[in-house]
Amino acid sequence: MKKKTSKLDSRHASLRVVRRLQKAGYEAYWAGGCVRDRLLKRRPSDYDVATSARPAQIQKLFRHTIPVGKAFGVILVVEGGVPVETAAFRGEGAYKDGRRPSKVFFTSAENDAQRRDFTINGLFYDPIARKLIDFVGGRIDLRKKIVRAIGDPVQRFREDHLRLLRAVRVATVLNFRIEAKTWRATHKLAPLIKKISAERIREELTKILCSDHAARGLDLLRRSGLLKILLPEIEAMAGVKHSPDFHPEGDVWVHTRLVMSKLPGNRTPTLAWATLLHDVGKPRTCVKKKVKGSWRWRFPGHAEVGERLARRILDRLKWPRADTQAVCDIVANHMTFKDVQSMRLSTLKRLLSRPTFVEELELHRADCLGSHRMLGNYRFLKRMQKALTREQVRPKPLVNGHDLLEMGLYEGPEVGRWLRQVEEMQLEGDLKTRGEALAWLRQNIVSSGNS
Ligand code: ATP
Ligand code: MG
Repeated sequence: MKKKTSKLDSRHASLRVVRRLQKAGYEAYWAGGCVRDRLLKRRPSDYDVATSARPAQIQKLFRHTIPVGKAFGVILVVEGGVPVETAAFRGEGAYKDGRRPSKVFFTSAENDAQRRDFTINGLFYDPIARKLIDFVGGRIDLRKKIVRAIGDPVQRFREDHLRLLRAVRVATVLNFRIEAKTWRATHKLAPLIKKISAERIREELTKILCSDHAARGLDLLRRSGLLKILLPEIEAMAGVKHSPDFHPEGDVWVHTRLVMSKLPGNRTPTLAWATLLHDVGKPRTCVKKKVKGSWRWRFPGHAEVGERLARRILDRLKWPRADTQAVCDIVANHMTFKDVQSMRLSTLKRLLSRPTFVEELELHRADCLGSHRMLGNYRFLKRMQKALTREQVRPKPLVNGHDLLEMGLYEGPEVGRWLRQVEEMQLEGDLKTRGEALAWLRQNIVSSGNS
């Protein structure tokens, strides 16, 4: 028997909202991204509703509403526990700062479609009558796989500069072409992106990097001119040569975009960003050496320099601190994977128990596939992961600080050093029980003259 869940899914919840609005005599449709995604047989991330009802009328009709953007006509209707973004058809007054309209006014469905960004995002669907409503030619562009601005692209990008990046994002995620006039406008106006807030830029870039077509997304970012404005440190990778022995694929930029393309489909944002940034230290650490008569390029310390640059970039994009730390850890650690087969057991276990290990291993795999293609270290780690139990990788400590104080040590760094030493021997398998650990400590603390 199917389990009954109390929460509706987004589609059902939005369907109820539409039905209720229509019953009350208003026009109401699914709008924007969800209509586009359904026609493409993609799963919509959420279902938005657009209606002829005004915000106050929406609020009157439903029991549980949250006026998230009442001034813009947007009300969250909570239906069966699921929030449904329900917006009055609206038009927009002049934009002042390239970010927000000076005012909005309530209008017809057709005018609401006209203020949306791209034709494929300007569609409505009536889920009761099962009818598509297309005022902007979005259906044809969906079929042709084209991202085209609604109206004059230069004017639309001047109004709201985030649309520059949204064009690249939508084209990347859907693997669509950007129509010629829209593309020329993107290229021409790319510098305006500087005026957009870091958070909004971060959201769009993350969607690009998490897409299956992230490598193409990087190409579009670069060719549009957006990359050198938003991420000059990444642009700097182009033309930084690699040695053909480890990197037959090409320069640091070519390698990075190839590695992006080797990531699994369901990557986390931290893995996606860490992959983009894993070699960001290379342009600054590059040294050229002659080895046996031919030139070789090496990048000493690039992981550490990369970590510093990654932090600077993520801070600039106002990332949450914990995520920044995770990305920086992955970048800083990525070179240790080449040594895993010669590591001490304790070092290996510490690697396996790192909070970011799963992502680090995915990056390592993609890094190899995007260069020399040797997966020996990856396979070794997969085998070790299987062979070792959780308890073996991260055993409960045999002793604690109290034990050491009872042996006569004073509080201080010395205690930590002894604990680490015991942990090391436990991970190596040299100490197995608490009794063994205590005996070993007694003997060694005495002989070192510390107690
Ligand atoms: P996703 O699947 O990532 O949610 P989406 O197209 O639904 O993609 P949203 O940011 O959720 O993107 O926006 C919902 C809709 O609002 C879009 O489909 C588009 O019609 C409209 N829209 C969003 N941002 C803009 C903008 N900057 N300018 C004009 N219209 C916009
Ligand atoms: Mg959406």
